[in-house]
Amino acid sequence: MTQITPQPGIMEIALYQAGKSHVAGQERVIKLSANENPLGPSPKAIAAAQAAAPDLHRYPTTDHASLRAAIGDVHGLDADRVICGVGSDEVLQFIAQSYTGPGDEVIYTEHGFSMYPILARQAGATPVCVPETERRVDVDYILNAVTERTRLVFLTNPGNPTSTMISDAEVARLIEGLPQHVLLVIDGAYAEFVRGDVPFNGGAAFVDAHPNVIMTRTFSKVYGLGGLRVGWGYAQREIIDVLNRVRQPFNLSNLSLATAEAALLDRDYLAHCQQENAKWRDWLAAELAAVGVASDESQTNFILARFADQAEADACDAVLQSRGVIVRKVAGYGIPEALRITVGDEEGCRAVAAAIKAFKEGARA
Ligand SMILES: *Cc1c(COP(=O)(O)O)cnc(C)c1O
Repeated sequence: MTQITPQPGIMEIALYQAGKSHVAGQERVIKLSANENPLGPSPKAIAAAQAAAPDLHRYPTTDHASLRAAIGDVHGLDADRVICGVGSDEVLQFIAQSYTGPGDEVIYTEHGFSMYPILARQAGATPVCVPETERRVDVDYILNAVTERTRLVFLTNPGNPTSTMISDAEVARLIEGLPQHVLLVIDGAYAEFVRGDVPFNGGAAFVDAHPNVIMTRTFSKVYGLGGLRVGWGYAQREIIDVLNRVRQPFNLSNLSLATAEAALLDRDYLAHCQQENAKWRDWLAAELAAVGVASDESQTNFILARFADQAEADACDAVLQSRGVIVRKVAGYGIPEALRITVGDEEGCRAVAAAIKAFKEGARA
């Protein structure tokens, strides 16, 4: 028997389940399972990646100054209080690693992102799951779960896989109710998809007003760069200074940095992607509602389609797969009666709507 054993708790970490990308026997699939941008990255981002290729023998910068400056300009933030990571997942990992350890509790909500308990366990801390109410984060459940051991609260706003969000007033109430020793992480992975005439700032104003709030954002969703792996965080300078100490100096490649910056600066392409998402999101929700499949008003780039029960959701998923349409089962997120469907391009949305309609009509016949 081997004497080599991992640290306590490591083997309790459940492996992350990624959205499926293949169906047996289907050559061409429509992948609506990972909340990717169906339109792909900006052509300018692709050009920047190509332009960066000849310099891949050079080490990248360690301070990410150019990308952080661009983030600061575009979002009206202090670039010195931005940190970039290998996806926002890495920034979330820096936070869990820096601020939690054995004996500490990390609160996340019932239908919260499945990475949160994984990150807590990686740091040796104890994840604490609190209920939501009707697929919405419930601030009272979070506050009631806070103990002396609580160090971190993860809030996804808007939520994945729920697609719902809580108001600024509710976030403010949460912050007011948290003891000062608890850090609130507002994960804004879907911030660019929020409805409304004024662009949603993802919670940046809360970061400016409170020393114990961090916001994270990503290039993986609206910017169509999930394969590149770039995300960032925004916090008080003291926190950024802590996080930079656990960050590897060359965590982002020069190709990643250049590509993300070009994507960020292509505001016309971003607006185009936002408009297409908004249009097809509402179209898809209406098509599904017309055949009796309900969903909450989505603030994201996906719809959480609700069926009568798990059996019906699973049966619908089987029909979708037989047509080469891949969506995400969310039983692992505690919503077995639902399927999470990424808003695709026109072809993808028409295909998934037609398949669900056929399923519903077949079920009735
Ligand atoms: C997709 C997603 C992220 C982004 O992860 P990256 O590591 O930046 O690709 C973060 N949080 C939530 C809730 C997400 O759904």
